[in-house]
Amino acid sequence: MQVRVLGCSGAIAKDCRTTSFLVDSDLLVDAGTGVGDLSLDEMAAIDDVVLTHSHLDHIAALPLMIDAVASRRSKPLRVHALRATIEALRAHVFNNVIWPDFASIPSREAPFVSFHDIVVGQQFELGTRALKNVEVLPAVHTVPACGYAVRCAGGGPNWVFSGDTERNPAFWQRVNQLDVGILVIETAFSNREQALAQRSLHLSPATLADELANIAAGKSYPIYITHTKPAETEEIMSQIDMLAAGSRVQGTKGWDIRWLEAAGVLQV
Ligand SMILES: [Zn+2]
Ligand SMILES: [Zn+2]
Repeated sequence: MQVRVLGCSGAIAKDCRTTSFLVDSDLLVDAGTGVGDLSLDEMAAIDDVVLTHSHLDHIAALPLMIDAVASRRSKPLRVHALRATIEALRAHVFNNVIWPDFASIPSREAPFVSFHDIVVGQQFELGTRALKNVEVLPAVHTVPACGYAVRCAGGGPNWVFSGDTERNPAFWQRVNQLDVGILVIETAFSNREQALAQRSLHLSPATLADELANIAAGKSYPIYITHTKPAETEEIMSQIDMLAAGSRVQGTKGWDIRWLEAAGVLQV
């Protein structure tokens, strides 16, 4: 399974695109501004989108993408998300004010987009060209939110994505039961902005360290950091490098922490 990083920034700026990952060629995980780098053919090949939550940095490109490729597709784009996320999209985006209600255009019987409720803990299969198993993981954020574990339907390791979250014991309880190939976890703010991180329910390097301490003994996998705010990325990186080095001097192998880059491809 291949995960292409379209966007992994916590905000926009030149060369910074917000959260979006393309799994194989047909499943999009979040629809931040990184989607804008895809060609029309690549966008039209996406059949399913799973969203972590309703915040703009994770959905900004969804309405634009549907509009861009609607004429090239013969079936609705399926959008899977928590019910609260779908309700927010319907009320505040696809409301015929901000953007047309593409769930009833061109007709209710054959719309450009269809919405599908999911719940935390649910597992389902997606993918028209390469079947994948998707599990909805818990997240702790200012709006209803989730993360995902995705693997080939035939088996193999999971690509695990935390979504936007603060401390999340239920996440680790489940992740420790999974065969994890790669973990992508957010760290939106530096330690200097700890108070803001806490208020907006995001992680900072200090709370990330507490979270990674939940990884079960004997488990080891690459940990990629995502969602850093561009203005603080260097500071966050140096703080995380320090805690990674600290984890190594404690006598264990330590955490294998790496940096996500837009346009990078992860092989899971
Ligand atoms: Zn958010
Ligand atoms: Zn976000």
